[in-house]
Amino acid sequence: MSGHPLAPAWLHEPTDPAALDPLVFTSQYSRDGSGRVCVDGIPVTELAARFGSPSYVLSERTFRSRARAFREAFERALHPLGVDVAVYYASKALLTTAVVGWASEEGLNVDTASGGELAVALAAGVDPARIALHGNNKSADELGLALREGVGRIVVDSLAEIELLARLAHEHGTRAPVMIRVTPGIHASTHEFIATAHEDQKFGLSLNPAREGEDAPALAAVAACLDASDALDLRGLHCHIGSQIFAAEGFGQAAERVLALRETVASRWGAVLPEIDLGGGHGVAYTAADEPRDVGAIAADLAALLAGALESSELPAPHLSFEPGRFIAGPSGCTVYTVGTVKTVTVGPGVERRYVSVDGGMSDNPRPVLYDADYTAVLGNRVSEVAPVLTRVVGKHCESGDVVVKDVYLPGDVAAGDLLVVPVTGAYCWALSSNYNWLPRPGIVAVGPDGWSREIVRRESVTDLLARDTGIADPVHATTASTRPSAEEPPNR
Ligand SMILES: *Cc1c(COP(=O)(O)O)cnc(C)c1O
Repeated sequence: MSGHPLAPAWLHEPTDPAALDPLVFTSQYSRDGSGRVCVDGIPVTELAARFGSPSYVLSERTFRSRARAFREAFERALHPLGVDVAVYYASKALLTTAVVGWASEEGLNVDTASGGELAVALAAGVDPARIALHGNNKSADELGLALREGVGRIVVDSLAEIELLARLAHEHGTRAPVMIRVTPGIHASTHEFIATAHEDQKFGLSLNPAREGEDAPALAAVAACLDASDALDLRGLHCHIGSQIFAAEGFGQAAERVLALRETVASRWGAVLPEIDLGGGHGVAYTAADEPRDVGAIAADLAALLAGALESSELPAPHLSFEPGRFIAGPSGCTVYTVGTVKTVTVGPGVERRYVSVDGGMSDNPRPVLYDADYTAVLGNRVSEVAPVLTRVVGKHCESGDVVVKDVYLPGDVAAGDLLVVPVTGAYCWALSSNYNWLPRPGIVAVGPDGWSREIVRRESVTDLLARDTGIADPVHATTASTRPSAEEPPNR
């Protein structure tokens, strides 16, 4: 069968257009007797009727089981090496109080990357000792909040931050638990990783000296933390090598380099750092083009790669921690959209492309625009016998790049009022959503294990859209002399 001339090589015309490819439609999805797509048994037609469209639909069961599966896979692989494991859910992927509650109940700790994320994790009732705070530019307020609440680890990212944190810890009369983020010179994404000597990025402290004869910035950071040991409790080293990674080699090489730094620290200062964090980045399938490996296999590969380094070391084995975000949240969620305008355009002689517009777009999923990310979709409210047609699913924004699914075969009779289900939108969609074109953001509907569903984040209303618009109700007050910059004082730029 020869495909459509505009179809990418990986996309095949489906033999059964009603089929739900288990690669992306994980176990929460099924079709009922009427052909409707169900999430944990609840038809998406029912969810759309009750909660509106578009909606993010999240399976609590899938979220919990992926969190548990990740933790158990790494425990199983690493415990035989004498290595204790902790898993931090990278909450930036999808953060609501309900979601971090699930992660916490499944035995995961929580990673946050700003004061706002930290505040939500605390509001969810997560034990502060099980929260980590990240960020390359944390403010004194954010660090102060972390110290007051007693978060379990603060991952420092620069020498200036080490100084600031030491001063704040003194002021708070406390000792801050610290990890140093290092850049191990490994970049990984999907199947490949590259090892480089030099780092050209904003995160972390390099393992390589800037000039011959100098200490590497990572070593200088260790020295600074040890110097301030009355205020800083240096727990260990952290690295994060990329995102959407399918193989263990990049993690293995990064780990070897970080473990080597740990050896250097021990021999130079006699300090045995108890913890190593290898970050997140574990990949998921978005379309049939992706071939993720089982998390158990990745954990086993990593253990095999690390076994030699751990056995040959004189030091006690470190605790290892991981920070998956996408792996847990991504496949747990989908977006349900309603079809509006359907249009077929002629692209060249005899070549047509069908555009199916939905009631959302780049405001609820900016990843196609930001990263050229691919997704797939199925007809959600029925099955169709009509032959599939190559389709581009687009949003309703004033932007021609506003694509939801670049290429997918959907039945030829898709029409206004049909529902489309786009799977694997649980991570970095709601988290990155905006109000562009003043579209109210969709709610997040959680489907529970016992057939219940509820909005864990409610849909925005027009009242929400206007809530922070203060207007020009009091122009006199806004231009009184006291609020005007004086002649000597130049206005802030
Ligand atoms: C984003 C991030 C993660 C999570 O990445 P995923 O690709 O979602 O697993 C983990 N750790 C750090 C430091 C991050 O910045």
